[in-house]
Amino acid sequence: MASDGSSSNSYDIAIVGGGPAGLAAAQAAAAAGANVVLFEKDEAIAHSVRTSGVSWIDSMDALGIPSHLYNPVSNYHFISPSNDVLISSGGRPRSCVLDVRATYQHLAFLAAEAGATLMVRSNVINVLKEGSRVAGVKASTPAGDLEVKCPLVIDASGFSASAARKAGLAGEWRRYGVGAEYECYCDHADEATWSLMVGRQYSEAGYAWVFPLSKNRVRVGVGIGRPESQADPLEKLHSILEKRLRPLDRLGRIQPVELHYGFIPNEGSRSQSVADGLLTVGDAAGQANPLVLEGIRYAIEFGRLAGEVGARAVKNGGGAAAAAASKESLEEYERTWKARVASKIASALKVQSRWVGLSDEEWDREIEILRDMSADEFIDFIKADFTAAKMVKLALHHPRLAARQLFSMVLK
Ligand SMILES: Cc1cc2nc3c(=O)[nH]c(=O)nc-3n(C[C@H](O)[C@H](O)[C@H](O)COP(=O)(O)OP(=O)(O)OC[C@H]3O[C@@H](n4cnc5c(N)ncnc54)[C@H](O)[C@@H]3O)c2cc1C
Repeated sequence: MASDGSSSNSYDIAIVGGGPAGLAAAQAAAAAGANVVLFEKDEAIAHSVRTSGVSWIDSMDALGIPSHLYNPVSNYHFISPSNDVLISSGGRPRSCVLDVRATYQHLAFLAAEAGATLMVRSNVINVLKEGSRVAGVKASTPAGDLEVKCPLVIDASGFSASAARKAGLAGEWRRYGVGAEYECYCDHADEATWSLMVGRQYSEAGYAWVFPLSKNRVRVGVGIGRPESQADPLEKLHSILEKRLRPLDRLGRIQPVELHYGFIPNEGSRSQSVADGLLTVGDAAGQANPLVLEGIRYAIEFGRLAGEVGARAVKNGGGAAAAAASKESLEEYERTWKARVASKIASALKVQSRWVGLSDEEWDREIEILRDMSADEFIDFIKADFTAAKMVKLALHHPRLAARQLFSMVLK
């Protein structure tokens, strides 16, 4: 027992948050031999879904996510107030809509199998410090308050970045997205087609969506960017459902069965993701593609990287009894993830800043840019997979001037 009545435990790594980043980090760190505990404040892993779950099949394959956990999608429908464009990758689905709860629980089982301890309904309420370095966490758990002293804390708490903020490593996000979504029964969805809808009737600063999980199950949602708009995404969602704006007019009866609500940072990646005894990953580190605000694949990929580098840093430091994982020993993590995505995220932010200010008429013209893209070009673009060679090709050869300007802007 600690002096304040809480019980105390010793681990190599404490992870804050049981989303995709934290679960992936827990598996990788435990598999590398670290003694890991993960705290999730909700009563179950993925109890509250805060995401729409669209991702990319090649990324899921690379991460080893089994195909029974998602619905494959091969058509991508863009709808603006008076226009629409349908892009198809034919018989080869490139995108997918995840069964979010099943996917995150799959990741949780992998972490448990690797030896990690998972604690649900366990809220990390503070970080412990020794001098300026982070030395553990204090959590409120079903078994009472618990203090964990450890050489490394991994903050995978998502938008709140709660441990990093308590430690003074991170401030509040100035730009972010807020989204509301219903998962619904519907009479007849096209399960191979997802839709993104733009223009003021859908979202003043952002977009709305219909993502299918099967022919009778869709996620219908609205995302709104702050500070550009203060509109309430749930109000907007109700209005879209009531008016049955395209493409909801084709779904027959729509009956919500779950409400999802969440926040996502939208100002690019954080400049600093490591400190003495602390590492941030996933949304806590701003590791999402800002073009369509998708971050699940990066959360898993960089969660694993965080777990591997963290376990090494702890081992080299001599384990729980020895000195904390130093900032220097964690820098390999920051170098690696930044080399992979920092420039892509920065380029995607440029496109997003152009998109966020478009009027309805401008959107009607802007989506024409997509019409002349092949499905592969479109997927690379929307994934923010901007290699210089691909963008130069589009900037030089796209038949529309507006498109050439857009792709040149990405290159600058
Ligand atoms: C409306 C919306 C739609 C989105 N749609 C998509 C999409 O279609 N595709 C996509 O790839 N991405 C999407 N995203 C983004 C995606 O959800 C995130 O990038 C991803 O969830 C990041 O994973 P994470 O593990 O970093 O954080 P999270 O998934 O947010 O997980 C953080 C976890 O930490 C827990 N936690 C927080 N604080 C504490 C604490 N103090 N103690 C204990 N536990 C704590 C939370 O309960 C949560 O379970 C969307 C986001 C929003 C808001």
